[in-house]
Amino acid sequence: MNAPRLRFAPSPTGYLHIGGVRTALFNWLLARRFGGTFILRIEDTDKSRSTQESIEAILNGLTWLGITPDEDTYRQTERLDIYNEYANRLLVEGKAYRCYCTLEELDERRKQAIANKETPIYDGHCRGLTKPPTDTPFAIRFHSPTQGETVVNDLIKGRVVFDNAILDDLVIIRQDRLPTYNFAVVIDDALLGITHVLRGDDHLTNTPRQMHIYEGLGFPLPEFGHLPMILGQDKSRLSKRHGATSIIAYKNMGYLPEAMINYLIRLGWSHGDQEIFSIQELVEMFSLDHAMKSAAVFDPEKLSWVNSQHLQTADPDRIANLLRPLLIRENIIADEASLDDEWMRKLVVSLQPRWRTLVEIAHASAVYIRTEIEIDEQAKAKFLKPAIKTALKDLAVALQTISPFTHDELESAFQRVLEKHMMKIGKLAQPVRVSLTGGTASPGIYDVMELLGQEKTCTRLVKAVAFITNTEISS
Ligand code: GLU
Repeated sequence: MNAPRLRFAPSPTGYLHIGGVRTALFNWLLARRFGGTFILRIEDTDKSRSTQESIEAILNGLTWLGITPDEDTYRQTERLDIYNEYANRLLVEGKAYRCYCTLEELDERRKQAIANKETPIYDGHCRGLTKPPTDTPFAIRFHSPTQGETVVNDLIKGRVVFDNAILDDLVIIRQDRLPTYNFAVVIDDALLGITHVLRGDDHLTNTPRQMHIYEGLGFPLPEFGHLPMILGQDKSRLSKRHGATSIIAYKNMGYLPEAMINYLIRLGWSHGDQEIFSIQELVEMFSLDHAMKSAAVFDPEKLSWVNSQHLQTADPDRIANLLRPLLIRENIIADEASLDDEWMRKLVVSLQPRWRTLVEIAHASAVYIRTEIEIDEQAKAKFLKPAIKTALKDLAVALQTISPFTHDELESAFQRVLEKHMMKIGKLAQPVRVSLTGGTASPGIYDVMELLGQEKTCTRLVKAVAFITNTEISS
């Protein structure tokens, strides 16, 4: 590929869904890999369904992922004159004609065709009208060939042959003078110099129609490639039924943009058995050679795993910055003022290898931030027992005088208590963990103490001792 020009052309009729993102990614990565240009075009000619909100959702989603266009965003509603100009040219050249059929008439004929067990395609009623009505609103239809075949040499699917007899004369300009998708897309792709049209395979059947329009207008054909659908676990087309499909929902759930990109690109492309890719690696390796021909199944578990892999190696300061607003959103802190940068960094370093999403990390952070914690009942019953009470108490006392309250000093104090009670580390560490975090899984115990700081650590140990004393009294 020599400096390809590629585009992503969403219709702004809803949020940016992950299928759309995968299409955008294929185009963007190819442009990056082969020194090309990536264009964003908003296909908003369906005015009844297009919304500004959706345009913003698309832009936000792409910005979050870092999929940025190389030129100013194009918008089809700002190019309406262009489509009309080309439609007029086709009219003049006899390659298109005015169609005066009303929607009711078309509907009636469609029903009739279905009743006659015929394919309900436009019957060419207005083709070659000798006495066209005046003052009657009209659409413009393209004169499609009715014989022969159209071959799409698809970059992903291979050779796909269409029988021209099933392609009717499609409307290119509607009665309201707005272009239809199939027409505007051709004009734009041609005028914007798009070399490769890569899109979802739901558009494959549109391609032969578009090829005829290219030919009618004397435009050179681009290459076409159609990406297979993304399916849900039940093998039906991915939809809301399968859970979140909006890209921003994944941002809100605490996924990293590079993990989304990694996961989504692997849903249609492979590179040996490598699963984890940095963006830089994708930019260096991506090509259509290993694009998959068949549909892929969206697997939320695998996405979480991919996210965990990226979380583990992400820069802790960056993760800390992403975490701060989440801590507020999840009601773990009221404002960011209380969070020291150095402390946040330590927190992230301790938690980032253990959790799969930023939201999980935020929730796991709560025990280090909140004053009060709840202790899991089962863990209490199992680990906060009379036999451990004196050791816990001794530890609380020892820790009260530790300075500085850091890993090595904490370890020595801990060891001294273990020696005094002739205990193995595991015997004391787990009750301490339960006392300090409320549960049985946490980062290393000295890291936990360091994160909690002296006051929280000692208070929680004293509380655990008091709890054991109370159970002794009541039993
Ligand atoms: N606007 C079309 C859609 O969102 C994209 C068409 C194309 O890529 O050609 O499905």
